[in-house]
Amino acid sequence: MVDIQSILADNLNRVRERIARATENAGREMGSVQLVGVTKYVDTTVTSALLTAGCREVGESRPQQLWAKAAAPKLAGAHWHLIGHLQRNKVAATLPHVDLIHSVDSLRLLKAIDTSAQQQGKQARVLLEVNCSGDIEKHGMTENSLKALLPQLPEYKATEVCGLMTMAARGGSEQVATRNFATLRTLRDDVAAECPPEVKLTELSMGMSHDFEVAIHEGATIVRIGSLLVEGVV
Ligand SMILES: *Cc1c(COP(=O)(O)O)cnc(C)c1O
Repeated sequence: MVDIQSILADNLNRVRERIARATENAGREMGSVQLVGVTKYVDTTVTSALLTAGCREVGESRPQQLWAKAAAPKLAGAHWHLIGHLQRNKVAATLPHVDLIHSVDSLRLLKAIDTSAQQQGKQARVLLEVNCSGDIEKHGMTENSLKALLPQLPEYKATEVCGLMTMAARGGSEQVATRNFATLRTLRDDVAAECPPEVKLTELSMGMSHDFEVAIHEGATIVRIGSLLVEGVV
């Protein structure tokens, strides 16, 4: 019988070591990159073992799966991240469960989140998803829509926009991923001057199992890793 707990602990250690090495190689401060363990491939039992191994920041890409796991008693203590597309009609049910929504890809969604957050008396924390790859299958706003949105952010008082998120082009090489991630960082740096003073785009959520090291090199502060963490148990 495979011991799920020890496999996950090993996987987590290896991923953390690689994150630490990439952080050091990039000349960045230790601990400046947060790991979000993506649990979309595994059930509640494996997710629970991942929490026990010490990965408390966890992400799901489908809202319904996030709700189900967030309500599971054995997953109490997890901090949930929604990393996939969110429809406006699912905002109200999602907000009570999440620490951070990575995937705000339109002004309409941002407005819906702000309205629900006000109704629920909470402060929503979100990232704006930007399509840096030009991949039409990917969600995310264009650079121009992001720029148009920034001056309006202070109107949404129940929503804290903490940074930006992107995904590299599907099936692209490491060079392409590097370029996509550099685009997001450069964009963030470029718009800093146009940002209202209360908006700090500190976080850059970019990098997955196959490209997180180049993402860290390009300035990622959050990496979203699934496959590498659950290798050997799915
Ligand atoms: C699935 C998913 C990930 C994790 O992908 P892996 O390649 O399995 O590490 C990260 N981000 C998003 C948005 C995802 O949907």
